[in-house]
Amino acid sequence: MMDDETRTHLRTLRESLSLDEKVRLLTGQDSWSTAPLPSVGLRSMVLSDGPAGVRGQLWDERSPSVNFPSPTAVAASWDRDMVERVGRGLGGEAVRKGADVVLAPTINIQRTPYGGRHFEAFSEDPLLTSELATCYVRGIQAFGVGATVKHYVANDSETERFTVDVRVADRTLREVYLAAFEGPVVDGGCLLVMSAYNSVNGRTASENDLLTTPLNDEWGFDGVVVSDWTAVRTLESARHPQDLVMPGPDGPWGAELVRAVDDGRIPVEAVDRKVDRLLALAARVGALESLPAPTRPAADDAHATAHAASVAGTVLLHNDGLLPLASPRSIALVGEGARVARTQGGGSATVIPPSVSTPVDGLARRWPDADVTWSLGAVVQRGVADLPDEDVTTPDGDPGMTVRYLDADGTVTLEEDRRASRVVGFAWDSPVVQADRVEMSFRWRTDDAVTRLGIVGVAGYTVTVDGVEVATGEQHLRPDDDPAATVLHPPSESVEIPTPAPHTLVTVTFRPFAEGIPDALTLGVGVPPTTRDADALIAEAADAAAAAEVVVVVSTSGEVESEGFDRASLSLPGRQDDLVRAVAAANPRTVVVVNSGAPVLLPWRDDVAAVLVSWFPGQAFGDALAEVLGGDAEPGGRLPVTWPDVEDEVPVSDTRPVDGVLEYAEGVHVGSRAWLRAGVAPAYPFGHGLGYTSWRLDHVDAPATLTAGDDAVLRVGLTNQGDRAGKTVAQVYLERATPSEVDRPVRWLGGFATATAAPGETVVVDVPVAARAFQHWDDGWRTEPGTYVVRAGFSVEDLPAEVDLSVETAR
Ligand code: BGC
Repeated sequence: MMDDETRTHLRTLRESLSLDEKVRLLTGQDSWSTAPLPSVGLRSMVLSDGPAGVRGQLWDERSPSVNFPSPTAVAASWDRDMVERVGRGLGGEAVRKGADVVLAPTINIQRTPYGGRHFEAFSEDPLLTSELATCYVRGIQAFGVGATVKHYVANDSETERFTVDVRVADRTLREVYLAAFEGPVVDGGCLLVMSAYNSVNGRTASENDLLTTPLNDEWGFDGVVVSDWTAVRTLESARHPQDLVMPGPDGPWGAELVRAVDDGRIPVEAVDRKVDRLLALAARVGALESLPAPTRPAADDAHATAHAASVAGTVLLHNDGLLPLASPRSIALVGEGARVARTQGGGSATVIPPSVSTPVDGLARRWPDADVTWSLGAVVQRGVADLPDEDVTTPDGDPGMTVRYLDADGTVTLEEDRRASRVVGFAWDSPVVQADRVEMSFRWRTDDAVTRLGIVGVAGYTVTVDGVEVATGEQHLRPDDDPAATVLHPPSESVEIPTPAPHTLVTVTFRPFAEGIPDALTLGVGVPPTTRDADALIAEAADAAAAAEVVVVVSTSGEVESEGFDRASLSLPGRQDDLVRAVAAANPRTVVVVNSGAPVLLPWRDDVAAVLVSWFPGQAFGDALAEVLGGDAEPGGRLPVTWPDVEDEVPVSDTRPVDGVLEYAEGVHVGSRAWLRAGVAPAYPFGHGLGYTSWRLDHVDAPATLTAGDDAVLRVGLTNQGDRAGKTVAQVYLERATPSEVDRPVRWLGGFATATAAPGETVVVDVPVAARAFQHWDDGWRTEPGTYVVRAGFSVEDLPAEVDLSVETAR
């Protein structure tokens, strides 16, 4: 909360500004920062993507960012403290990177597993999302850094993402999509909300009345509504509680808005209101000279947090007793994902970690005396992978490659040595965006006389080898591409080049094309996927499996999960299903690790000894996995999303708008509620997950009656029946015992709490259930009196204890 003295001070500052100055504040000064006003001691504020790390203003390997597990993985812990710890990790990283605002968390609902940004969101369930997002926001903001809940609202899939009009009933909006935002706004006190690209019921989000109601007038939000990047399209939007246009410096407000205020079309009060909020944000993050900076705690060890969160979110779906592994003498690691660790999904959430522990590294470290082998098994890679560090040097023999940026006259404006295979520009002033040509030169150590080089980027290109031109071509955006594909997932192709001698000098010259969104470009080189015979790869992996004591297959969704497009299939890409079957047939002691941010089909799941979901686990992947496999720690996760068995049964699967409209026809029946209504059993239900001990649910106690509008605390008794300490999640679901006036879910999550216990120990945990859990929306929140069945257990399907609770209308 802000005290009166500060408020008065900020008002005085605002009153000292000219209209020009006020309006200047309302559009970013560039891609990632706000406009400063030195005359009033206001510095620029830096905004940086999240949520899997804090990128900072550059996407550059020289400025790495700790890569935390993606939010679905963090949410899988169902652990408020762990989620807050990850938030603190991000807060500390933001301070280190000079960011005032983190553009996270993403709290859209996992309405369907096909959503491209599924990995970036917490859960299919609004209550779980809201509770955990609240903790995440608190963690970030403990560092005097603003958190941004995004994307407000109903931005739950990617197809036609800039223009789609989501049609969703009021009740559904309130009970599902807005419900996710309510906690982090009201209880978490998040300093920013990001308005989405899409429309909701006919009005684009940055001009939608939802910015007023419920956000401002019901929830009392007093922070800044920042637009998603380019989501503000009109002058008209300035009338709405849309406060900040990003990116800048150009945008639809600026001089147009000054004129509109001058001639009375837009009231000056609308501008003042936005300025007040911007100044309040500046005060809160310490961007005003005249006010003290917030006290910032010392940062935690961010890598340790990333590691702990990965362990806590790993979900053991199935285990015939093989896990935890004892001391295997030999382990056959199989799969591209074991070596090319997919630690995060694609898009603006991507960060460049300082280092990554792959499963190959992690298992070799955990079992130094075991014989750990690796085989590829199946190709997942679609585009171009980075050139292996050990195979390239600069022309002068230093590590990496030399990149030269040239202007239209051929003058070299910058020359730098880089360790990455790609250069990314995401701001008008970045050298790659400004250059007329970009030249990458490196000596490539290869034993092959002819080899294939991958070329990445929307550009014309020429490849020379020792000064002789060997290939030339052009790459353009494809008609279906998202405009941000120029930077997020650019086209690539490969060319054959002769490499007659080790240390051949290869130079690739790019001439970028102005396509897609402006000021954003990725150019690079790399290695295309191997062309080795797919059956031979599987056979080789099966041979390695047969020879080993234990097999660990790391299966991955690869690059199909990203911002900018939705998934077309839920199957594991490439021949990975055939690979798992062949390996499991060769050795039944096979554990499959699922390295994906969203559910994938596991048609062989009953034929393998264990299935472990690592999600997109962040930079500590390999070490965290080894810790769980070896039983040094329990897999602490429970599914925050229903895991389907076959594609045909997925109850909500549409992401494709029809004539620009996407109907949320399923209403409030989203996630597990949709499965319950369809009466279809998924592969693994919402909330499911095993540990290394076993639990008995002894009882659930509830007050016999509850007055409508009151919160309840339930008590759940649990006994650890196994012989090691463990963690479980006490989950409480509600059902209506007597017929209801409204179309209710069969059952819905009411509350949850984590529990830990020593072997044989009985514990009783409090599970808070808020009044809202009993309410439905009907032009206002209503509580229908009557009897509710409170069911407690370990997943939405596994609910051994129940008790009736009578809700009575207040007298
Ligand atoms: C994404 C946002 C992101 C912004 C800035 C947009 O395309 O939707 O989530 O924060 O870009 O990178």
